[in-house]
Amino acid sequence: MMMDSNFAHTTDPMLSEQQLKYSVYCATCGYNLRHASYVGRCPECGSDYNARPLKLENIFVEGALRFPSSEVFIGLFCTLIGGWLVPGAINPVSFLMLPIAVIMVLIGLAHLVTAYRRFIKYLRYRSILKRSQEEKDD
Ligand SMILES: [Zn+2]
Repeated sequence: MMMDSNFAHTTDPMLSEQQLKYSVYCATCGYNLRHASYVGRCPECGSDYNARPLKLENIFVEGALRFPSSEVFIGLFCTLIGGWLVPGAINPVSFLMLPIAVIMVLIGLAHLVTAYRRFIKYLRYRSILKRSQEEKDD
């Protein structure tokens, strides 16, 4: 019986089974994945991760810590201007101004939703960063 011996190598077992020799943090919970395999499931929260240098899926990256200031600014700006235009566009009804005002409000609200999601991520990343710095002090 013939077995395809190359098949096992297509998943790159070298890197998958190799242990991480440096500190890498799970982007979901901040668990230090040092001594875990390059690809796997976080022992603390159970989310899948890939710590291969060119993949980096669900891995905390310090450079990604950014307060969503532009999303907050655009969101507030569009929502306030659009909301300010709506009353003038309704009475009397202006078929030019009303769509512009409504679209501005919608764009503003979409940016505020994005800003909120990024802010939650920002807080999570900040606590992971704090945790990683505390571990470095040990
Ligand atoms: Zn985790």
